[in-house]
Amino acid sequence: MKAMTSLVRYLPGASPLVLDSPHSGTHYPADFLYACDLSVLRHAEDTHVEKLYDFAPALGAHWIEAYFPRSYLDANRNTTEIDVSLLDAPWPDAIATDPKVLSKVRLGKGLIWRTTDEGVPIYGRKLAVAEVQARIKQCWEPYHAAVAQAIDAAYLQHGYSLHINCHSMPAFASSHATDFPGEEHADFVVGDRDGSTANPALSRLVCQHLEGLGYRVAYNHPYKGVELVRRYSKPTEQRQSIQLEINRKLYMNEETLAMTPNFKSLQASLRSLIELLLKTDTRRL
Ligand SMILES: [Zn+2]
Repeated sequence: MKAMTSLVRYLPGASPLVLDSPHSGTHYPADFLYACDLSVLRHAEDTHVEKLYDFAPALGAHWIEAYFPRSYLDANRNTTEIDVSLLDAPWPDAIATDPKVLSKVRLGKGLIWRTTDEGVPIYGRKLAVAEVQARIKQCWEPYHAAVAQAIDAAYLQHGYSLHINCHSMPAFASSHATDFPGEEHADFVVGDRDGSTANPALSRLVCQHLEGLGYRVAYNHPYKGVELVRRYSKPTEQRQSIQLEINRKLYMNEETLAMTPNFKSLQASLRSLIELLLKTDTRRL
């Protein structure tokens, strides 16, 4: 058990399974200097996701968790997804040119968010280039190093790796969160970037297991998976990555952020899914 830095938690495991939670962090750094209400900012968190999976390290899963909040730096973005309109000087490094990525940045959802999911501006100031670079060094780099290290260790030890990128989502899509504002979300969304980050047979197994437990499950809509599943997967070489979104209404009050009594039964469902995945040799699918 070791923490790579104070802003990232990494618990190495012994199984092929790697779980990471990039958005559940609640340690708001003193140098964040945001201008909106903290209560508004907190809606950006995947609050309590780390608690939902707290049983998994004891079962042998590798576990990585961001302590820093998603609104400070979104670890599920590439470092090129820079919103230059936030900066007080030109960005010295590469900037993304992919139109899909640029539309996310325009929504205020780049590496460093400009607005909340409700479109509320986060800052009342411009950010210094050095400030953004420091966030990348202190948050993005150690987080990605831990995920890469865990997946490599799982793969070397077992000949395959199975990475679940753990998230939660609001019951209804917010105005500035996705391309489908106001849409009512399913209970779970399983994402493999249209079969490019995991063997679709594995994604099917996850969907069917959750459906068998009585949940409504969507596949690759409206969330397909982003940088963390894209960057570390290679299904043809037995490195599988799936993004799993859980509807927050299943375990918390979205206004107060308090856990609801249903938390325990959802956790039991997740435990059965993790136990199934630990028994699944993805090379045989
Ligand atoms: Zn998330």
